[in-house]
Amino acid sequence: MTKLSILPGVRGIPYKMKAALYYGPEEVRIENTDVPEIGPGEVLVRVGAALTCGTDFKTFRRGHPLLIKNIPSPFGHEMSGTIVKVGDEVSGFTPGMRVVAANSAPCGQCFFCRRSQHNLCENLEFLNGAFAEFIRIPEKIVNCNLYRVPQTLSFREAALSEPLACVIHCLDKLRITPGEVMCIIGSGPLSLLMIQVAKLHQAKVIVVGRSHDKLEAAEDMGADCVINVRLAKDPVAEIKAVCHHGYGADLVIEAVGSKATWNQALGVVRKGGRICLFGGCPQGTVFEADAYRIHYEQISVHGVFHYTPDYFVKALGMLAEGKIQVNPLITHECRLSELNQIFIPGVLHNPLKVVVIP
Ligand SMILES: [Zn+2]
Ligand SMILES: [Zn+2]
Repeated sequence: MTKLSILPGVRGIPYKMKAALYYGPEEVRIENTDVPEIGPGEVLVRVGAALTCGTDFKTFRRGHPLLIKNIPSPFGHEMSGTIVKVGDEVSGFTPGMRVVAANSAPCGQCFFCRRSQHNLCENLEFLNGAFAEFIRIPEKIVNCNLYRVPQTLSFREAALSEPLACVIHCLDKLRITPGEVMCIIGSGPLSLLMIQVAKLHQAKVIVVGRSHDKLEAAEDMGADCVINVRLAKDPVAEIKAVCHHGYGADLVIEAVGSKATWNQALGVVRKGGRICLFGGCPQGTVFEADAYRIHYEQISVHGVFHYTPDYFVKALGMLAEGKIQVNPLITHECRLSELNQIFIPGVLHNPLKVVVIP
């Protein structure tokens, strides 16, 4: 069966390809499927590199309310590659171009889009299917969220635009001023990107995590101080102690997505500080906050979700300018045929991002 994917097709594009399909929690299968047909306004891309994302690991464990609506579903959303075919009415893109596609496109017309809150678009169209040999880029994304990859960037570097766009969005909402103390709760790949962007804003960065290796990576990325909560007797007190001598952090980003760490964020912020809740919790999670702290201590709490096309463009630009270190974030490499293995806990040692080569 695996031989099917090399059957010759029209103009070098085979009829069949290998693709990962998501069947539900803990069930990802690699199958031989048809290479997608494209219609007017659409583009077919041969995937050069795809990256796993914390969201993929989370989806593997418990599904995803927005990204995956029907199963089986194509899987994976961070990728870049080469255009092999363009549909009628596509302008500005031709076969052979190296491109990176965002994993969503706003409609541009709804209540939220008219207020420039494109990330909250009521008709946000999501794209899955990065873990495949080919991917069909729908018209909406071709029109507003498909970009040429600069010569200086490799496919794996360009594929980092999507998570970096989320990070830039988050830090933009917090409006950092130089010298502020930022506490990042969580030490995954997104946190490592946050450190780098926060340092460009000249913040002092404290990273809180549970994994020795990941905290070491955080230090390599420029964190001024790391705290391992597994080794801390009173994590909140220890975190506050290194933030303005006990006052607490000016800014806190929660980048885990659990009730306990949402509460920890509220515990370590200083009076008058700002919190950004970046990590999404499962639907139905109820979060309790001390009303006294919010009102009398004037704490601002922000939610932040996803990104807008503007942030994606900024992210690609920062990568092209070499402002972000990418390689330390990519800890493993695998072939598409091995993908269903890597999400199983314990198979990979401390993965940050895994680059998937089709
Ligand atoms: Zn992602
Ligand atoms: Zn919209």
